[in-house]
Amino acid sequence: MTLTPLQLAAAFTERFGAEPSGIWSAPGRVNLIGEHTDYNDGFVLPFAINHSTMVAARPRADRSVRVCSTLTPDDVVLSDLDALTPGSVKGWAAYPLGVLWAMERAGYSTPGLDLLVDSSVPVGAGLSSSAAIECAVAVAANDLSESNLSLTELVAIGQLAENEMVGAPTGIMDQSASLLGEAGHAVFLDCRSRESRLVPLDLEGAGLELLVMDTRVSHSHATGGYAARRRSCELGAELMGVAALRDLSVGDLAEAAGVLDEETFRRVRHIVTENARVQDAVDVLSGKGPAALGKLMATSHASMRDDFEISCAELDTAVDTAVSAGAIGARMTGGGFGGAAIALVRSADSAAVTDAVARAFAEAGFTAPVIFPVLPASGAGRVA
Ligand code: ADP
Ligand code: MG
Repeated sequence: MTLTPLQLAAAFTERFGAEPSGIWSAPGRVNLIGEHTDYNDGFVLPFAINHSTMVAARPRADRSVRVCSTLTPDDVVLSDLDALTPGSVKGWAAYPLGVLWAMERAGYSTPGLDLLVDSSVPVGAGLSSSAAIECAVAVAANDLSESNLSLTELVAIGQLAENEMVGAPTGIMDQSASLLGEAGHAVFLDCRSRESRLVPLDLEGAGLELLVMDTRVSHSHATGGYAARRRSCELGAELMGVAALRDLSVGDLAEAAGVLDEETFRRVRHIVTENARVQDAVDVLSGKGPAALGKLMATSHASMRDDFEISCAELDTAVDTAVSAGAIGARMTGGGFGGAAIALVRSADSAAVTDAVARAFAEAGFTAPVIFPVLPASGAGRVA
């Protein structure tokens, strides 16, 4: 659903019998370039999008939490915040409750809370609805508990919640984009130092649009391929004698080819070249502007398809068709094995690209994709 803040406040009051103390919001994100580089201590370039998750919240006098979402019919009631442990919460409530657990674990005390969540971030499409719900709850709990955690501390809280309570071994990219993003900018993030810098990404000013092409193929980070890719990267770093693949440069690849088995080498080559592409993309955006990103997007997609092997037929079809129909560049985004691809298009070509991709999916017998434009938007905060 997509409620307005006023509608969400009214729904909260109906559900809990009292008005919310406030409403907080956190966006989903698109990663412009830099895939699977985050857990290799590398670089990523995501931006916060104009689709977000809102949470209406009110502190309680006791230590219990009631949380419900317009996405699911059931309220989840927790009688005692102190009884929260990893593994104790199943399903979607692990995200909001995990954030409260992580805050307590980091030494901050949060009051019991009533929470109502509503989101316009498509779930499981690679746009990080998970970080959006975590960060919305994190900024709400931060304000209501007067903990004064910084945005980068909240990034760590969200990651801890997702790693420990949800059990997904993810990095800091999604929470960083959701918390640190700004309208008209991407977030250049060094996942080792955790330093970030805003980079101009004025799509509208350049007459461009970024289309998200959700393939509707569901992905699950907690299983299989994602964990296997992480293991390959760890093995590659170990065999090359570096702390993380971040420490290898393109010039080291010739040596790596002699040291690593064929598959591990290709995994490593993706990470090393992708890190270089992210830095090149930052230079391009600061210089020529977004219309010059096409080639980097193309080489990034080819690297994910051929070297890292995380694409799928639907993602390849979306990317190839978009480019044939006039897109400046296109690539899969997110963890892979499904989810979404993005296409950078001139606004005038947007409808033609959308139609061509929809037609190609129909011809291939795939489930119809969901295609929509996104803009770089501002990060999490209080909205009412
Ligand atoms: P992605 O982050 O790419 O959307 P994930 O699998 O990481 O996909 O996270 C999706 C999960 O996050 C959902 O299955 C659900 O458990 C939880 N979630 C996200 N948004 C909401 C919401 N508005 N209400 C309830 N649960 C949500
Ligand atoms: Mg996620």
